[in-house]
Amino acid sequence: RFFIDEPITGAEALLSGPEAHHALHVMRLKAGDGVTLFDGSGAEFSAEVTAVSRRDVSLTITGRQEIDRESPVRLTLGVALPKGDRQKVLVEKLVELGAARLVPLTTERSVALPKGSAIEKLRRLVIEASKQCGRNRLMEIAEPVALGAFLDESADAERLFAHPPEEAHAERGGAPWPATQRVVAMVGPEGGFSDAEAAAAVEAGWRPVTLGERILRIETAALALAARCCGIPL
Ligand code: SAM
Repeated sequence: RFFIDEPITGAEALLSGPEAHHALHVMRLKAGDGVTLFDGSGAEFSAEVTAVSRRDVSLTITGRQEIDRESPVRLTLGVALPKGDRQKVLVEKLVELGAARLVPLTTERSVALPKGSAIEKLRRLVIEASKQCGRNRLMEIAEPVALGAFLDESADAERLFAHPPEEAHAERGGAPWPATQRVVAMVGPEGGFSDAEAAAAVEAGWRPVTLGERILRIETAALALAARCCGIPL
């Protein structure tokens, strides 16, 4: 599977940049080989390699299929991102689990805030993970947003924030979770949401939920929320 960074509309396509590198130097494609392409629109294309050069790969489109591998629930996750490699694990696994959008959050106790090229690297990871897991739509990675602004997001969606169980007002395990089609959820930083932030979230209509009796790291909490909200059948 290869990603084309523009809508595929005609009978031809070109792989360049990192996709061409993957095709030429990892997969060692040559003229006549068949591949699958996606452009993030939801469709999947069959294609045949017509020519290779040192830098790019020319293809002829031979078929188009609408293949929906999206979750029935559109999940936006606001996360006070963890540091380093844990950020990469978070992004890769959220793509696999089917989250629609990741919003890096700045909170009182946030530590890692990706900007510019760091966000671009995370977006490249989204493509890599989508190639691997067969997703035909890309999970969006938004620019970082302050918690206060995020609280106002999507007032018409089900809004949840993960809060550890020792917090008296967090709902415990058995409470029913939403069966709605749009969920916006958020996960706090290593130091947790401050009391003021949790109170502001409740005030703005967000529902605190727990993810069990143990304290999870940021990425574990985000992935547990995604697995639960994206309606993965077991
Ligand atoms: N000492 C912090 C606290 O008490 O909030 C722990 C923060 S935890 C490492 C990071 C974030 O993951 C939390 O802000 C929360 O959003 C989420 N989280 C971790 N464990 C959780 C649990 N058992 N239930 C709900 N949310 C959890």
